[in-house]
Amino acid sequence: MSNMISVHDAITRMLDQVESPSVQYQQVSLNQALDRICAKDITSPIDVPGHDNSAMDGYAVNASNLNVGDTLKVVGASAAGHPFSDQIGSGECVRIMTGATIPEGLDAVVIQENTAIDNEAGTITLQSPVSAGDNIRLQGADVRKNSTVIAAGSRLSTIDIGLLGSLGIAEVPVQPQLSVAIFSTGDELVAPGSPLETGQIYDSNRYLIDAMLQRLSIKVIDFGHLPDDLEQIKGALVEASEQCDAIITSGGVSVGDTDHTKQALEALGEIGFWKVAMKPGKPFAFGQLNRAWFFGLPGNPVAAAVTMDQLVQPVLAKLAGESFNQGNALQVSAAESLKKRAGRADFQRGYFEQTTDGQLTVKSAGSQSSGVLSTMKSANCFIYLERERESVNRSETVSILPFSRLFS
Ligand code: AMP
Ligand code: MG
Repeated sequence: MSNMISVHDAITRMLDQVESPSVQYQQVSLNQALDRICAKDITSPIDVPGHDNSAMDGYAVNASNLNVGDTLKVVGASAAGHPFSDQIGSGECVRIMTGATIPEGLDAVVIQENTAIDNEAGTITLQSPVSAGDNIRLQGADVRKNSTVIAAGSRLSTIDIGLLGSLGIAEVPVQPQLSVAIFSTGDELVAPGSPLETGQIYDSNRYLIDAMLQRLSIKVIDFGHLPDDLEQIKGALVEASEQCDAIITSGGVSVGDTDHTKQALEALGEIGFWKVAMKPGKPFAFGQLNRAWFFGLPGNPVAAAVTMDQLVQPVLAKLAGESFNQGNALQVSAAESLKKRAGRADFQRGYFEQTTDGQLTVKSAGSQSSGVLSTMKSANCFIYLERERESVNRSETVSILPFSRLFS
């Protein structure tokens, strides 16, 4: 057990070795920018709104010295896109619609429900008090000109895209997409779509990892699945390392007789084989092959998913120029007892919910076997149990990590 490294140390070691991309970036149009990593701070070229405008349908007035019962002449109208630009005298007002610019010299909008309208005379009479600023959206109240609206390193969200549009920005500087080669290893693997023979299983990891990488806007180069054959694995590793920024494989990194990935890597590159003190996920390999970073995931599907999420994701984020944070753990009450042995940190599949009295609780999502992918589907979080912790009693407090977007 002494040669196991903690999850934290594993992440730190990897992050210390890899570098963020240099200043090279590309401009993409807004409709291509979702989920890309913003390469530069974006500042607003304009105030939003660009002018003081009305929040309601009503009458724009100058509020000073106006009292309930005063009658004002309606001298014109301001509608969205059609401002009123003539001079306005005292005792006068302007009909105004939501979103329309407040005419020069006026400072409040009286909502139409608070007036008595005399259409024949072309006047309104105030029925409620009015103060300067009433029902006005001030210039720059949403976004101030020159303020930073999106920081470099952000992954552009749907809201970011809308916000950029509201600023009139048509193109955004983004980091180049990473390209990652994937392959799975194992004589037992068969690609989905073909029948299974005795002793064979479907290769699920390659599809799982591919989908997770797509979630991160990474270009995937799929090398298929390889048999447990030293020369074939070596050949694929060399070819992949010449084509991409990183290689992710699954299977073959533990100490079994057929773990040829390990032997191939030892012959080719500077790879560390780690026992990470986590469950699932213990065997894990990391290092460099030519110019490509290498991540060797364990073969069990849940172990592959957890190590992708917890170990690989932060490193890919740094390589992609993303300011990444893993999300905050929540402290919740265990709705049932949970089995745990000291020595490794557990990422148990859990389901958390709010009870009728408002308390957050979590229970196990079912089988915790690292080969059982179906309980990842009924889970919505990991129950994170610290390395030295032992079994948890009902009602004890535990940390949960709500599932990241990689599992959606
Ligand atoms: P390994 O790490 O190669 O010893 O594999 C550990 C377990 O994961 C074995 O039961 C394998 O059959 C299974 N496994 C390995 N690769 C895959 C894969 N690509 N898809 C699904 N299961 C796999
Ligand atoms: Mg294998």
